[in-house]
Amino acid sequence: MSDPVASPATVTRPPLTIRMHADDNVAIVANDGGLEAGVMLPGGLLLRDRVPQGHKVALVDIAAGAPVKRYGIAIGHAVKDIAAGSWVHERLLAMPDARGLDNLPKATVKPRAAEPLAGYTFDGYRNADGSVGTRNILAVTQTVQCVAGVTEFAVQRIRNELLPRYPNVDDVVALEHGYGCGVAIDAPDAAVPIRTLRNISLNPNFGGEILVISLGCEKLQPGRLLPPGSIRLVDTRDTQDAALDVVCLQDDAHVGFMSMVEAIMRQADIHLRRLSARRREPVPASELVVGVQCGGSDAFSGVTANPAVGFCTDLLVRAGASVLFSETTEVRDGIDQLTARAATPDVAEAMIREMAWYDAYLKRGGVDRSANTTPGNKLGGLSNIVEKAMGSIVKSGSAPITGVLAPGEKLSHKGLTFAATPASDFICGTLQLAAGMNLHVFTTGRGTPYGLAAVPVIKVATRSELARRWHDLMDVNAGTIADGTATIEQVGWELFHLMLDVASGRKQTWTEKWKLHNALVLFNPAPVT
Ligand code: CA
Repeated sequence: MSDPVASPATVTRPPLTIRMHADDNVAIVANDGGLEAGVMLPGGLLLRDRVPQGHKVALVDIAAGAPVKRYGIAIGHAVKDIAAGSWVHERLLAMPDARGLDNLPKATVKPRAAEPLAGYTFDGYRNADGSVGTRNILAVTQTVQCVAGVTEFAVQRIRNELLPRYPNVDDVVALEHGYGCGVAIDAPDAAVPIRTLRNISLNPNFGGEILVISLGCEKLQPGRLLPPGSIRLVDTRDTQDAALDVVCLQDDAHVGFMSMVEAIMRQADIHLRRLSARRREPVPASELVVGVQCGGSDAFSGVTANPAVGFCTDLLVRAGASVLFSETTEVRDGIDQLTARAATPDVAEAMIREMAWYDAYLKRGGVDRSANTTPGNKLGGLSNIVEKAMGSIVKSGSAPITGVLAPGEKLSHKGLTFAATPASDFICGTLQLAAGMNLHVFTTGRGTPYGLAAVPVIKVATRSELARRWHDLMDVNAGTIADGTATIEQVGWELFHLMLDVASGRKQTWTEKWKLHNALVLFNPAPVT
């Protein structure tokens, strides 16, 4: 046993670097706090500079103009001669251009058929539309931001006065957003925020119960948000005809604020009664719809947490489940890998269509994919978007890609799907909710307290130091992979079993425990007026 007083953080570990591919001419420093100049690496290489944790060291002399390789690909070219043992920071790298979208390989990789993974179940809530919820939540849909204050007031009262009567309902959530009026609602791209809002209302965790709060004069009228035929209507009014359940604040019937609040509470009570009658039942793991995402990435993201998530993605696909991977700017530099892994040429074409759309969207804003990286990414050792993308893409595992969704579209098939979204954590999460995600996995190296009210978010730390420091925010420590105390496969299985426990409600994630919830943030590529 080691000294019980010394915390793991203070134990001096031998110098450790991690190289991802045999062709790489750089490796990253794994030690907490980095390594000092003059340290001898295990292979006999002397460090010429101090190299922070997660940052790259040149393993050989790299001539000016030569490729700097990580993950077996050129993440940039040296802007001057770099001597072996030097710190290779982002100022020494010129970023390569993005690969063009012509002549890409389409469905050329034929992975050997993975053995089905049978026998795994979780306890979920079956819905009338065939989906399965992992939580039992009343969502209050809003057509427009104008009603947000009134809705929040009513939701607080529902939570305090009604929810205690329905212990089988987990929560009541106001779907607040900034859309609905003051927008060019007939612009072609307005389809994105509108279908996002519609499909979020239909998320499996809301049990098919839809309660809409409308102002009355807004552009996004209830019938446009949720047209007849887009939803299964149930009777919640005093009439015989099933109709969309809408509380309209400008309705003449409302005299004063309290009339509005009481109308919302009265309608909420009807939905709560039905939600509360539901019970969890064992369902196959194939009913999971897992959205994978990363945020606050560092150089370990692609070494520890994301590969473990990728291994788990393969387990989920083998179990017949649905996995969504997203973040267009973070996979753009690996487009050739993705189109090659597409199950069919049509899937590859759909992926190219989404990438081309996003390239044009960025160009319209006067930027390109390199706008993605943050100061924190760079502090964490990620020099540019190419390096970040290679580490991000591994969350998708190795299964064939069988589906593609445009932003805000709803998933209709199982397997591995590329759900095109911005990489922005809250926008990606919002769009994955619209796709029908019932469980979220989020990896982070720098650390973020990100959470969502509608689905449990399992947070995976890329480094043990972060997992220790944020011990009550991180659900899984994948830093054990870099420490050499666990394998990618072990952490992947740990995550898989945790998913089944969390989906069943047997375990809460830290963000659920603390009720840390980020706002829904719509992706609106259309003009506002
Ligand atoms: Ca993200």
